[in-house]
Amino acid sequence: MTLHTGNLFWPTTVQHKPEYPKLSGDVECDVLIIGGGESGSLMAYTLSEHRVSTILVDKATIGSGSSSANTGLLQFSNDKMLTDFSKRIGEKAAVQFYKRCLKSVDDLEVITKRLEYKTDFIRRKSLFYASDKGDAKKLRKEFDLLKKHGFPVNLLEAHEIGSLFPFEKDLAILTDLDAEVNPLKLAVSLVREAHKNGVQVFENTEVLGHEFSDGGGLFRTPKGTIRAKKVIYSTGYETAQFASIKKAALNRSYAIVTHPVKDMSFWYEKAMIWETARPYLYMRTTPDNRIIAGGLDDNHTEPESDPDRLKGKGWELLSIIQEHFPLRDLQVAHQWSATFGESKDGLPFIGRHPKYDHVYFLLGFGGNGTVYCTLGAEVIKDLILYGYSHDAPLLALDR
Ligand SMILES: Cc1cc2nc3c(=O)[nH]c(=O)nc-3n(C[C@H](O)[C@H](O)[C@H](O)COP(=O)(O)OP(=O)(O)OC[C@H]3O[C@@H](n4cnc5c(N)ncnc54)[C@H](O)[C@@H]3O)c2cc1C
Repeated sequence: MTLHTGNLFWPTTVQHKPEYPKLSGDVECDVLIIGGGESGSLMAYTLSEHRVSTILVDKATIGSGSSSANTGLLQFSNDKMLTDFSKRIGEKAAVQFYKRCLKSVDDLEVITKRLEYKTDFIRRKSLFYASDKGDAKKLRKEFDLLKKHGFPVNLLEAHEIGSLFPFEKDLAILTDLDAEVNPLKLAVSLVREAHKNGVQVFENTEVLGHEFSDGGGLFRTPKGTIRAKKVIYSTGYETAQFASIKKAALNRSYAIVTHPVKDMSFWYEKAMIWETARPYLYMRTTPDNRIIAGGLDDNHTEPESDPDRLKGKGWELLSIIQEHFPLRDLQVAHQWSATFGESKDGLPFIGRHPKYDHVYFLLGFGGNGTVYCTLGAEVIKDLILYGYSHDAPLLALDR
């Protein structure tokens, strides 16, 4: 499955990406992780911290799947607002999930500080604005509920937004304690560290088939086999084809990165910006003063393959940035289209297979995929090491 097309930005930011061998021969471990994107790399790092005998394989190279197309916004607020989640799964469960997301951003900060190689994790505020007057009422209710449960939010009226940003909106929530990251650097650095801690890593090694028995599984690759007591599928959006992930939908999204901008003083604290409309548009900055914008999702599964249509989407995103900021000479430097997976209820798919005890899934479907993968790596580590995780029922595949 092709996960992205176009000209990605993050691969141009990673120097000296380590290479790992192809598997050749037969190997054994306690835990096999299939897929070396952000989810697999967070999982490998987490297990390596607990000295679990682990093998990580990827059919391509580390971070080259959807993780390279990710725009790197880390937020505790989700695609589904807390008010909407509360109606669907109850206020208690919705708040539990939001609190776990908030904690996962903190956890990721701790993890990135421990890594030897930089991931460009930077704490940021987020501006979540009402896309139209109708949504302002909805946003006020969202603020009330977030505030009631102690989330770090402030409500901005139109004149306050106007005093901080060069655009007009009726209402917005300004959140603290979000962050931005370079998602490819994150995956690469995590795997470096996990490898240093003893995890065996194989690139260009596709798992082609498996046989399960009571003692675990035997996994076939083109030039060898892996015997593992437990397996974690962190195979990203391709896993939507599995029968047990029925409640997922695949769409297509677009993103651009501009050339660096000289002066960013008009952008309040380089806050990340998004909106209430669905699908939503979002913008962030990079450490070298570029602007990333994304959105315009449509319901095709495959990324856009026509270069002219892709260019057209790039111009649309550029003009959206220019509607917000006074940047007449802005130019697109990178643009891409990518498959984007969401679950129907807004929660990721994380946990043990409903039927097979030694099979786990770590699938961060949704706009907060990185936060979900951080949370998921903890949940699966707890299930494997202690047989229990408080958050597992909420995220279970058969929920
Ligand atoms: C345009 C776009 C923007 C996004 N923006 C954000 C954002 O701002 N913030 C955020 O949190 N999330 C965002 N996301 C979501 C985020 O990208 C994903 O949640 C995250 O990358 C998922 O990581 P992953 O490891 O599950 O998947 P992937 O990175 O796709 O990794 C899966 C890996 O599995 C490997 N694999 C698959 N099958 C096999 C097999 N049989 N054998 C061996 N290896 C296999 C693949 O080669 C791949 O490397 C965005 C996504 C898109 C598309």
